[in-house]
Amino acid sequence: AKILRLILGDQLNHSHSWFKEKNNEVTYVLMEVMQEQHYVKHHIQKIVGFFSAMRQFASELKDEGHQVIYYYLDAQENQQNFTQNLNWLIQKLGIEKFEYQMPDEYRLDQQFKAYSKSISIPSAIFDTEHFYTTKEEVKEFFKGKKQYLMENFYRYMRKKHHILVDNNLDPVGGQWNFDHENRKKYDGKTPLKKPLTFKRDVTDLVKMLKQMEVPSFGKITQKEFSYPICREDGLALLAYFCDELLPAFGKYEDAMLKEHHTLFHSCLSFALNLKMISPQEVVNQVISTWKLNQETIDMAQVEGFVRQVIGWREYMRGIYWAEMPQFAQQNFLENKNALPSWFWDGQVKMNCLKQCINNSLDNAYAHHIQRLMVIGNFTLLAGCHPDEVDKWYLGVYADAAEWVQITNTRGMSQFADGGIVGSKPYVASANYINKMSNYCKGCVYDKDKRYGNKACPLNSLYWNFYLTHENKLKKNQRVSMMYRLLEKMEPLEIEKIKQQATIYLQEINTL
Ligand code: FAD
Ligand code: SF4
Repeated sequence: AKILRLILGDQLNHSHSWFKEKNNEVTYVLMEVMQEQHYVKHHIQKIVGFFSAMRQFASELKDEGHQVIYYYLDAQENQQNFTQNLNWLIQKLGIEKFEYQMPDEYRLDQQFKAYSKSISIPSAIFDTEHFYTTKEEVKEFFKGKKQYLMENFYRYMRKKHHILVDNNLDPVGGQWNFDHENRKKYDGKTPLKKPLTFKRDVTDLVKMLKQMEVPSFGKITQKEFSYPICREDGLALLAYFCDELLPAFGKYEDAMLKEHHTLFHSCLSFALNLKMISPQEVVNQVISTWKLNQETIDMAQVEGFVRQVIGWREYMRGIYWAEMPQFAQQNFLENKNALPSWFWDGQVKMNCLKQCINNSLDNAYAHHIQRLMVIGNFTLLAGCHPDEVDKWYLGVYADAAEWVQITNTRGMSQFADGGIVGSKPYVASANYINKMSNYCKGCVYDKDKRYGNKACPLNSLYWNFYLTHENKLKKNQRVSMMYRLLEKMEPLEIEKIKQQATIYLQEINTL
């Protein structure tokens, strides 16, 4: 039978069993479509990264002898959405069966389920053969339990996949988690490495996007586009991480530095999320590098990294499938405010936000603590609506796919799920930012002041946050200490903090 197989932009998995053999009856199709440019406004580097990687993947499949149809965005026959293009192809090529891989996004999963039902030929759905877990595994693991606890799931993953465990399934190194060793400020001495970038010329692609009036934001260096766009690039990035960055990864995982935005982070998320490389090969290579270099790389670095990939990444995906679609509607704290205008142009005086927002706008990247404890912290303290926050995060980061973006943003960062992902809101005042970064040095605001001239806005907003949400948060054991501190504060002090927070919220666009 003549088969049409659809490959989505984040399904660029060369090792998929689909490609094991060549078959003249099978035609693969990849599509650049306007449908995917309109559900949210994307960063220009995200669009260029996806399209470049898709084009490269299609051409590699062709070189290997597969039959491939590629829809360029500006092709005349392109009807700009998946289903219309598929209908046309099915008819034109006399297709007898439609096959696709499980979409990682709820919206597309729904679309293709409905589409498969609507067509007269049979269809089949395949696993993407990328993740360690099935879509349902997290849900099954936590069945009957009161709470999703990442740590429990992570230990299960270590044992199930024999990762960093001995023959008795006990953790290598004597403990499961070295989290407390992952919280160091950069020491100013450990040599910093330039991130590995790929420097491609994408001028033509950017020109085409402009001509087609594709909505976008953020910056791009057209002659030196930095993202990995094929498996070979992804593997080079992985090797670079193992050789150069892993020895200090865990230690400085939470550190931030205005002179260096990626520090010891791997920058692998884009290659991983498009499935150009697999989490298994990433984890295996990190562990084998450690085994060969135990004098220079200690367990805390390796465990910290492995936890992100087999723990957090798989856990977030599982929560997404367990909780969607209602997850996308949650707004536990009933936040309503708009995002400040400087989220789009980087014109903000608060130095921590200036550094992290501009890093995001310039590079379509920010590392975890910048996303969580600077940008997300601010939107939560400022009471921004989680819909607005989600839209920005889903658009701005090149690695943003909804399954991992919304769980991190609405869940972990904004506490809009009321505690599904994390057991307490992640909020911080200047104290934390100053402890983990050098942002406060040279900031126009005074990190030590709660109110008055040039007081750091985070300080008043921080206490104001707890005051505003007292009804909902006071019963949460994990933050009860904050309420005890507030009880000990002078009423006049509280009044001044509230007044300062109100002023800052009114002036939010000029902070
Ligand atoms: P590293 O620090 O080198 O970590 C290695 C890998 O671990 C990452 O590539 C990623 O695959 C995985 N990982 C680490 N932390 C997480 C996490 N919390 N959840 C899932 N996987 C994780 N990640 C995305 O891939 N896409 C997103 O859209 C996204 N949005 C986020 C939004 C917020 C508010 C927060 C707090 C985090 C978000 N993350 C997202 C998770 C994390 O910040 C990024 O995966 C990471 O910064 C990517 O950079 P890296 O590859 O250098 O990561
Ligand atoms: Fe950010 Fe406040 Fe520090 Fe300035 S003083 S960098 S606004 S935490």
